[in-house]
Order: sequence, then C-alpha cells, then structure tokens
Amino acid sequence: MKTTILGYPRIGAQRELKKACEAYWKKTITKKELLKTAKTLKKQNWLIQKELGIDLIPSNDFSLYDQVLDTCLSVGCIPQRYKSIEQTNDLELYFAMARGLQNDDIDVTAMEMTKWFDTNYHYIVPEFEKNQSFAYYSNKITEEFKEALALGIKTKPVLIGPVTFLLLGKEKESGFHRIDLLNRLLPVYLEIIEDLIDLGVEYIQFDEPCLALNLSDKERAAITTTYNAIHNKFPKLKIFLANYFDCYGDNLETALKLPIDTLHLDLVRCHLQLDDILNSKYFNNHIKLSLGLIDGRNIWKNNFEDSLNVVQKALKKLPPENLWISASCSLLHTPYDLELEKNLNSEIKQWLAFSKQKLEEISTIRNLCLTENEPYLSLYEENKLANLNRKTSKLIHNSKVKERVSNLKDTDSHRTHSFDIRQAKQKEALNFPLFPTTTIGSFPQTKTVRSWRLKHRKGELSNENYEILIAKEIEDSIRFQENIGLDVLVHGEFERNDMVEYFGEKLDGFAFSEFGWVQSYGSRCVKPPILFGDVSRNTPMTVYWSEYAQSLTQKPLKGMLTGPVTILQWSFVRNDQPRETTCNQIALAIRDEVIELEKHGLKIIQIDEPAIREGLPLRKEEWPNYLNWAVKAFRISASGVKDETQIHTHMCYSEFNDIIASIADMDADVITIETSRSEMELLDAFVNFKYPNEIGPGVYDIHSPRVPTLEEIEKLLSKAKQVLPKEHIWVNPDCGLKTRDWPETKRALENIVNAAKKLRQQE
Ligand code: GLN
Ligand code: ZN
Repeated sequence: MKTTILGYPRIGAQRELKKACEAYWKKTITKKELLKTAKTLKKQNWLIQKELGIDLIPSNDFSLYDQVLDTCLSVGCIPQRYKSIEQTNDLELYFAMARGLQNDDIDVTAMEMTKWFDTNYHYIVPEFEKNQSFAYYSNKITEEFKEALALGIKTKPVLIGPVTFLLLGKEKESGFHRIDLLNRLLPVYLEIIEDLIDLGVEYIQFDEPCLALNLSDKERAAITTTYNAIHNKFPKLKIFLANYFDCYGDNLETALKLPIDTLHLDLVRCHLQLDDILNSKYFNNHIKLSLGLIDGRNIWKNNFEDSLNVVQKALKKLPPENLWISASCSLLHTPYDLELEKNLNSEIKQWLAFSKQKLEEISTIRNLCLTENEPYLSLYEENKLANLNRKTSKLIHNSKVKERVSNLKDTDSHRTHSFDIRQAKQKEALNFPLFPTTTIGSFPQTKTVRSWRLKHRKGELSNENYEILIAKEIEDSIRFQENIGLDVLVHGEFERNDMVEYFGEKLDGFAFSEFGWVQSYGSRCVKPPILFGDVSRNTPMTVYWSEYAQSLTQKPLKGMLTGPVTILQWSFVRNDQPRETTCNQIALAIRDEVIELEKHGLKIIQIDEPAIREGLPLRKEEWPNYLNWAVKAFRISASGVKDETQIHTHMCYSEFNDIIASIADMDADVITIETSRSEMELLDAFVNFKYPNEIGPGVYDIHSPRVPTLEEIEKLLSKAKQVLPKEHIWVNPDCGLKTRDWPETKRALENIVNAAKKLRQQE
C-alpha cells in the first residue's frame, strides 16, 4: 500500500511566490530571480513530501500563476491578441495572458478568470476559436519532471485532462462546441506524453474533475476516446485518473471501463462511492484505487479510526498493493503548515491539520494499515484523543445556541407581512423620491485608513485615538454624501478589514490563523477564518458606528451587515455538523444584530450575500436542497424587524438566470446587483422572472478606475426604466467602493445622483 497526493500548495509558507511575482511585475527583481524563487519552492515541496513519506510525488502541480494557464501554454492555446508578444519573452507572454499588458508598443487585455469548480480558487479561462489549432508549445511539464529527477525524485506529472481543459474554456465565436476540438487537442497531449515517457515517466496523473459534473453523452464519450487513445499509443503508461470535489455519479460506468491504472476517489465529499465502486459489475480488481481520505478542502484533523475502516472495506476486495492512501483533492486549497501558528488557542490547534500535517496523516494511515508497531499506535491514540476532545469541548458546544436552532419556527423565516404591505408602509415612512440613490457600503479604503487599522491592531494607536480618526472619516463621508444629494447614506466601513473577518472577529465560534493563506488567484491569497464552534453573538457588532453615523444626519443611514451564507462560504467551516446547521447559527446571530440596529433607530439595513451563488453544489440535482436552506438562512437573519424597516441585500459577480426564483424567495425589500459591466444584460433574469420587489441595477463598474459619464449612466437607467416598474428602481454602483480612490469615487457618485435627478425631471 503506497501513498500519493494530487498536488501541493505552491505559494510558499511565507507567501514567497506572491512576493516574488509582485516584485517581478514591479520590475524590482529580474526574471532570473523570480525563477530562482520558484525553483526553491518546488524543491522544498518535493523534499518535504519525500521526508514525510509520500511515495508518489506530483510535479507540474507548481505554477507561477495558474495551472489552467500553464496548460494553455503547454498545448499552444494562445489567443490571437498575444501573438506579437509570443516570440519575444515567454514570461512576458505568460503574464500578459494572466494580467493584460500595457506599454508603449502594446495594449492587450487579460484573459477572463473564473472560479475553479466550487472552490474559491480562480483559474484563467481558455479561449477557443472555431478553427482553433493546438501545438506543443511550452516544455514546463518535462522541465519540472527533470528538475525533480535531479533531486532523485521520480514524480508523477500532473496534467489537466483534455476533456476538463476543453470544458473549462469558452467558445469565442459561435458555430461550434468546444468539445469538438478534442481531435485536434489530443495529438498534442500524445506528443507531451511521449516526451515524458522518453524521460522515464511511469505514472501520469490526469485531472478530470469534470467527472464530478453532469456530463452529456458526447462529453462522456470524449473521456472514453481520450483515455483509449492514450492507452493504445502507450500501453505501458500508468494512467492515474483523478476526479474530485464530488462523486463520479452518472459518469462512474464510463470511468470504470477506462483502460487506466488508478482511479482516484474523493472520499471526503463522497464517501458512499467506495461501496458503489466495489460492488459495481464494471469494477475489475486490476484497477488500483486512490483513496482520497484526507480532506484537501478543509483544515480539520483526519479521524484515523474512520479512515482505517474505509481502508479495511477496500481491502476486502483488493490487495494492499492496489491501494493508494491520498488526500481528497490537491492540497492547494489548504494552508501550508500549522506549526507556524504560535497564537492559536492550543485546544483548537490540536483539532487542525494544514498541508504539511496532512502529509503526515497520509503516511500514518498507511503505516497503521501495514504495521502495528508502537510509534504508529501512539499516533493513533493521539488522533483519537484529539477527535474526542473536539466532540465534547466547551469551546465548541454551546447548548443555548443548539437549542435555539432546533427551536426555529417557520414564522422565524417570514416577515410579518407580504412585500406589498411592507412597501406601502416603507414608502410612507421613508418618503423617497422616485429612483432613490444609494451606495453599496464601503468607501475608499485609503492607505491612511488602512494604516490606522494596522497601528491599532499592533497597539501603536490607542483605542481612543483610533476611534477619533474613524469618527472623523465617517463624518467627512456623511457630509460628502449629503452634499451631493444621495438619498440613503452609509457609514463607509472604514473600521472593517474584510467583510467576513470583521464579523468573525466579533462572533464566538471563530478562530484566526496568522499564516493560513490559501491562493485565490495569481498572487492573491485569502486567509479564511476558522469557524470551529457554535456561533453566537455576545456583543453588538456594528451598532456603535452605525448609530454614530445616523446621529450625524437627518437622511436615513443604511446599516451594513454580511449575510449568513457569505460568512459560511468564505470561512473554513465545521465538518462535524451539516453546513445548514452552521448557517442557521450565523443567521440567528445576524438576526439579533439586525433587530438591535432597528432598536437604535436605523430604518434601513443591508445584509450582503455576494456568495450565495458560489455555494451551489456541482451537480444540479443537489441545487434545490442547498438553495432551500441558504435562502431560509438569509430570511431568518432578515425577518425579525417590523414592516416599516427596509431590508436590502446585495449580490455581485453573479449570473442570476438559473437561481432567480430563489433570489426572489429571499424577499429582501430591495436588492442591489452588479449590472453595469454587462450593460444591464444581467438584469434580464429579473425582468423575465417579473422580480416582485425593488431593485437597484448597478450603473458604475467599480472594478475600473474609469468614471462613468452622466450620459452613460442615463442610458443605463433608461434601459432599466423600459423593463422595470419605475417605482421599483434604485440607482447605485455595482458594488462597494473600497478599492477605488476618492477623486474618481466623488465624480462618479455625483454623476449617479445627477442622472437620477434628470430621470425624475422627465416624469
Ligand atoms: N458592503 C460591501 C462593500 O461595500 C459589499 C462587498 C461585496 O459585495 N463584495 O464593500
Ligand atoms: Zn458586491
């Protein structure tokens, strides 16, 4: 029985790769220096895996930016607009595709980016033309294999499988389906494989996580064609086929019939599939199974007892040499090393495992299966104790919270009256003009503002002085908003580092790491809070600043909260209870805050839910269940207030079409959404559905420093006016303004207010 993993984090324990890339982009280090950092990181990764007992170590899981972008270059899938860079400098081309390039000679946009399955990792979206050709272009894959070989490690190169690669991309013109490009792509893969085999490669890992999706017959057939072709040409090659993030589902039969050496299973997301496979009539016991037992998506210690039971089950049908012990998916999605954390509560720390600890867990499980000698048994006992402690720890379990969740009644997720009645009461209480104007919450987080927070955190700025500075910033922003004539004001979120972390820090049940970074895209990393226990709110979280801001103005001030689904989605969450339960706990905490804001005089409260869509399960059959509890959690958070209090929600980076019924079901009085970049195209979903409540389609693309002109905004608004009842329309930017600077923000918001005024005059 051997051990393997699908991939290791590459950003560096201290985010060395991030720092090196950013320095290279700023031209403060050379290409040679960047590549040296990369080489060191790869070497460290390989050696640590070897040292900790991984038998089959991956290569080509490293990337300077993104593994899908790497694949584009490997197979020469380079969009036309980069052709002039192609000849001159490989790294310049690579980063131009990733980030765009603007200099005296050239001005090209970046390739699109989107989320990698249901993770928070973003990949570069391959672009395909009808006459797309492919050619073996970059030799990164072979070079990395050689690099590891020089260290005495014969790796298993990781390739994104051709079918997944095609499905992840996008047709840039009509008249074909990208899967039809397989017959042109496959020969290039065969060339790459041939080169690898010439270098002595035995195993190649093909990542085909598209097998976790609902595939068409044609797409399934493409899988069969691909692996038959590879096997026919290279019968001795050991094909390691990896699917992860969900079961094989309807694709299982296809997978089991392939001429492969090993089939990898994500047993964390889908533990029942092992029985299905072992009992399937298509299962032949020459196939090896890679048991993905260790969670590659979360930070909890494995439960050795459970894992050993799974292995025992497999051993009933397979000899030990046909089993690999592994992690569910690449460890890319978990932080580097728990040992770096010096400030984590030690009780909590004993429940956790980051990537390096997961390597140890993998080898320990294998060792426990093979031998029964002392050192491993003590590790087993230690693991058992830690898991037992977690089951009963006072830090986690709060009976009051559990009771409150189990006593939730249907009425808790319903406002007192329906929208029509609430709307009438709100119109009277708030008395807005037609097309009321507002913003989404945050104002520019300038360097100065961030430096106050940092100094305050480090203890270099007293509470009192910090609060004086924040108060002044809020006051300035209120005066500005009043001056330009916005109808609903916000306090600006200057005291918040991040919309989830801020609330996590105030709620019970969350812990924070210092180095728990996970790559989000390119050089960007996130440090998700660790949601370890029952969530409760023991102190108001936003009342102080909201009440203060409201006291400065006669205009209504909008309280600003992050919704339960978004808090859940952007944290490392518990695996000892259903996500639904955790989400309800957060929902109740937010509900209490909403009620308290109302008590302190706020008439409007926004509960942001930008992450509702990304929580969707990979398989459509699981959508209704998720949407059901996610919407309900939002409603629990929003339903404790009286009819007159207006609840807003906000969503961005979303396609709304397929979930519009659920969005309507959230029953927020007002929703603000991102629509300006798509020229209001995203609004169609709401229009076609006849979305019943009020809606603010964004008219200012906050991702760009560009200031939209008055005319542009008017044009967007008149589009909205043609399709929505005018009494339902709000006027606002696409999203919060924290990444913008003040001068452009001021000009853009002035234009927004003036556009609304002009629209009113036309009535
Ligand atoms: N209220 C938040 C802000 O303005 C919303 C951010 C978001 O939607 N991502 O920053
Ligand atoms: Zn947003």
